Amino acid sequence: MKHDSYGFDTLAIRSGQRRSSELEHNEAIFTTSSFVFENAAQAAARFAGDEPGNIYSRFTNPTTQAFERRLAAMEGGEACIATASGMAAITSLCIAMLSAGDHIVSSRSIFGTTTTLFDKYLPRFGIETSFVDLTDLDDWKQSIRANTRLLFLETPSNPLSEIADIRQLADLAHENNCMLVVDNCFCTPALQRPLELGADIIVHSATKYLDGQGRIVGGAIVGPNPLVNEDIFGVIRSTGPSMSPFNAWVALKGLETLNLRMYAHSQNAIQLARFLEQHPRVERVFHPGLETNPQYELAKSQQYGFGGVVSFVVGGGRESAWKIIDSTELLSITANLGDVKTTITHPATTTHGRVSDELKARTGIGEGLIRVAVGLESIDDIVADLARGLDG
Ligand SMILES: *Cc1c(COP(=O)(O)O)cnc(C)c1O
Repeated sequence: MKHDSYGFDTLAIRSGQRRSSELEHNEAIFTTSSFVFENAAQAAARFAGDEPGNIYSRFTNPTTQAFERRLAAMEGGEACIATASGMAAITSLCIAMLSAGDHIVSSRSIFGTTTTLFDKYLPRFGIETSFVDLTDLDDWKQSIRANTRLLFLETPSNPLSEIADIRQLADLAHENNCMLVVDNCFCTPALQRPLELGADIIVHSATKYLDGQGRIVGGAIVGPNPLVNEDIFGVIRSTGPSMSPFNAWVALKGLETLNLRMYAHSQNAIQLARFLEQHPRVERVFHPGLETNPQYELAKSQQYGFGGVVSFVVGGGRESAWKIIDSTELLSITANLGDVKTTITHPATTTHGRVSDELKARTGIGEGLIRVAVGLESIDDIVADLARGLDG
């Protein structure tokens, strides 16, 4: 397929597939751990790297590669490698790119387990991380050192939907011989393509919107060659966090409907945000698509849509927030997101429960904050489910 000439939806449905000799219409699942060789000489050539081709599914697998080619095409990247989870993607990237003595500058508003990786485990290998305010360019500038290799961020942030100026931070990274890594989990390439804005590497949790129906755990890294196909591939081949072919197939099929789903998530989310904004018991609503959001223009300029996450603050602290959560009958009380089923969570006591009180205060994760990852049920039902607790 000539990727350059096709639109996003065509890439989502057609790219990456290579039919086997059976000429199957739909992408096949190759559930095999190893692959056979025509003869001993071919085996030797494959192991020596003199001949391309499959050897073992920890290295490559045709179904996993179909997912990788498709996601790379959708992100507009040269290469992609799939991993067993989103955290496996971030860990593999760090092992491939960093050595003892290197330094990361990371947004403070990132996925909790990524914070744990940067804060607790990487220091044991001599890699330090400085955490900065996502939207404060001076904070980023002042934290870069001679040994800084990576700038790392998520935008919009979770759960407050703050927006980073990707182009500005990509320029800053490049002026300092660093690479900008964007965790594009919240937007997916349907709503935001950071490589177009100058970012160098994308990481994904395929567990979220890429699958989109809460069925699998998976991840991926998209970026330039030879970084992805040599350095990161080498780490994955040697350390083993490969994506299973079945999970790759689920995520591959998820990509086919990604654009439709992300559009529908965004439509439902903005309707919920507007409902919450006019509700007397709601003190603040966080969603990049609200015109009242101070970063609305920036979000509009770098995203193709605003996404499915809406957070809001109610008066009365934890007690009120928990009451509203417990009054729902339809929404799922779970910290996961990126699902056709709407989920609701209390960040201060779940996803951000281990964050210190000082940091919670500084990052705005208060006791009255509720996060809804808006799914694709009828919006009237989602609104009614939240209204029950809010009106009661
Ligand atoms: C869930 C998530 C991750 C980690 O992904 P897993 O698949 O759970 O390992 C990383 N980043 C973000 C933004 C996430 O939401």
